[in-house]
Amino acid sequence: MILKKDIITDKNPLLRNRSVDVTFPLSKEDEQTIQDMIKYIDMSQDNDLSLKYDLQPGVGLAAPQIGVLKKMFVVKAEDEKGVLHHYALINPKLLSHSVQDSYLASGEGCLSVPTSHEGFVKRHYKIKMSGYDYLTKQDVVISVKGYISIIIQHEYDHLFGILYYDHIDKKNPLVPIEGAIEVV
Ligand SMILES: [Zn+2]
Repeated sequence: MILKKDIITDKNPLLRNRSVDVTFPLSKEDEQTIQDMIKYIDMSQDNDLSLKYDLQPGVGLAAPQIGVLKKMFVVKAEDEKGVLHHYALINPKLLSHSVQDSYLASGEGCLSVPTSHEGFVKRHYKIKMSGYDYLTKQDVVISVKGYISIIIQHEYDHLFGILYYDHIDKKNPLVPIEGAIEVV
C-alpha cells in the first residue's frame, strides 16, 4: 500500500531521472507496483479512506513519484462532460498531438510538489497515446482532449523527469497563453 510517506517530492533528484520501459511479461514486482498505484488513486478519491490514511487526493500518479523509474502511470478523472477516464498505462507513447495548445485555468498541481507554483502550463489540446492498459489488460490507443489530455501529459512528463512548473513562463506566469484554449 502506498502512503503519503512513499511519495517522493521534488527535493528528491530521482524525480528528475528518465524512466525505462517495462518488460513483458510483467514481473511480480512491476505488477505489484501498478496495482498499488491504482489502489492509491482509488483510495485518495474516497473521502473516508483519504482521511483515514491521510492521503492527498490525486487524479494521477506516475511510478517515478514512488521512486520507481519505470514507464507506468495511473489516471482517474472525469472529463468536461462528466465521463470517467480511468487508465493504468504501461510503456505509454505519445503518437501525435494537435497544433492547438491549451492550459488549465486553475494551473496544475502535483502530489510530488508540496509548494505551490502559480502559473499557466502550456499543453497540447488533443493527444493520441498508445500503451498497455493494465486495467483492461490490452494494448490501447487513447485519443483525448481538454482536461484528460492535460492530466495525461502531466503524468507522461514524469516519465522523463519533467515537472509541471518547468513549463511555466517565469516572467509572465499568469498571462493567458496566446492562441491556447483555456480549460476550466
Ligand atoms: Zn505530478
